[in-house]
Amino acid sequence: MLIAGNWKLNCNLKEAIQLSSSIFDILNKKKVLSEVALFPPVIYIDSIKKMNKNSNISIGAQDCSKNVSGAHTGEVSATMLLDIGCKYVIVGHSERRNGNHESNQDIFLKAKSVIDNKMIPIICVGESLKDREAGNALQFIESQLKESIPINNNNNEFIIAYEPIWAIGSGKTATPKIVTQVHIMIRKILNDIGFDGENVSILYGGSVNRNNAKELISLDEVDGFLIGGASLDAKHFFDIYNFVEESV
Ligand code: PEP
Repeated sequence: MLIAGNWKLNCNLKEAIQLSSSIFDILNKKKVLSEVALFPPVIYIDSIKKMNKNSNISIGAQDCSKNVSGAHTGEVSATMLLDIGCKYVIVGHSERRNGNHESNQDIFLKAKSVIDNKMIPIICVGESLKDREAGNALQFIESQLKESIPINNNNNEFIIAYEPIWAIGSGKTATPKIVTQVHIMIRKILNDIGFDGENVSILYGGSVNRNNAKELISLDEVDGFLIGGASLDAKHFFDIYNFVEESV
C-alpha cells in the first residue's frame, strides 16, 4: 500500500518544513506497514530530504521534464530529481495534462525518463465528467494507458493512479463501484499490453479524505491513495494513513 501526498503549488519554505516535520515526527516513531511518500513543490525537496535523512518516508516530485538535458529553460530533469533523493515522480497529473497541454506522448517520454533514472513514475489517468456522462470513460482511459506507459518494463517499475478529473479537488469522490470497475479494466488493459496487471499497483485519487478513506481502501482493487488537499493537513493525512494501516 502506498499513501502519496501531492502538495501541488502550496506552502512556503517554513510551512513545507513544518508540514513535513509533523508527518515525519508521527510516522518515524511507528513501525509503518504501508509506504508513505510526500510530493512537495520541487524547490523544497532538497531541504526536506536533508532534514529527514534517516526517515522511512519517501520523497517524490510532482512532475519532470520529458527532456534529458539542453536548451529547455525552467525545466527539471529526472536525473536532477534522482540527484536530490527522489524515489517517485508523478507524471500525467490531469492538472498538467489540461493546464499545460501535456499529451500522452509527453507523459510517455516523462515516464520513460523516470524509469531510465531508476525511479518509479506514478502515471495518472482519468476521465473528465463529459467523457463519463457520454459513456466514454473507459475508452478514454484505455488510450491514456496504451499511449503513456513505456513498454518493455517490469510491473514494479511503474504505478498507475486512477484520478477521475471530476473528483480532483471537488469534494466528489468516485463511488466504490466506479473505482472497482475502472481498476479492474486497467489491470485487463495492462495484461493486454504485456504486463501482469494483477501485480501492478493502482492508486485511487480524487477527494480522498478521512470520511471516505476507510471504505475506499477496503476495496480489493485499491493499492493506496494519491491525496491532494487532505495531505496539506498533517492530522488529516495521518487519519487517512491510519485507515490504510488498519487495512494492511
Ligand atoms: C490530486 O492532486 O492528485 C488529488 C487527488 O487532489 P484531491 O485529493 O485534492 O482531490
